[in-house]
Amino acid sequence: MSISTSPSQPLPPEDSSRPEEGQRASSVTERLVEANRNYARDFTDPGMDARPVRQVAVVACMDARLDLHEALGLELGDCHTIRNAGGVVTDDIIRSLTISQRALGTRSVVLIHHTDCGLLSLTEDFRHELELEVGQRPSWAVESFKDLDQDVRQSMQRVRTSPFLPHRDDVRGFVFDVKTGLLREIDPGMPRGE
Ligand SMILES: [Zn+2]
Repeated sequence: MSISTSPSQPLPPEDSSRPEEGQRASSVTERLVEANRNYARDFTDPGMDARPVRQVAVVACMDARLDLHEALGLELGDCHTIRNAGGVVTDDIIRSLTISQRALGTRSVVLIHHTDCGLLSLTEDFRHELELEVGQRPSWAVESFKDLDQDVRQSMQRVRTSPFLPHRDDVRGFVFDVKTGLLREIDPGMPRGE
């Protein structure tokens, strides 16, 4: 999978593309809203507490192929799922984990990266390209990586060294294989290349 700052399909001229783009986007959303009406029709309030039953927060990539609840046997109400591009532990992930642990009682952290991640094909040049295109450099790092295992280790390390988190003992990291559906655990201590 490759990602660039440019849209993958060349866009038609501005004035002809806009209505079509808008229509396409709204029809997707309309389907979601319609699906929600069906969902709500049979919905009964489960009367759950906001505190996750299994006291766990799962940090994972936003990848569309990764169904966390199915892959981990989780039920509604079991966990917090915190996702971003790459499943990288950024300041905002630490923010969510801090709230998860301090306000909502989670104790364990599970980190999940996955094979064929879009972040593997990006570099920090992405920011430079963005700056050239739009005239402004983003304040955030791309957080791209070349080595999945090493990035999982770095993410585990970021959780384990965060002063904001009271529970840092049970932090485990995995790579999800999008072809087999299996998780592979990453040894936090193993140095790169071994
Ligand atoms: Zn990914």
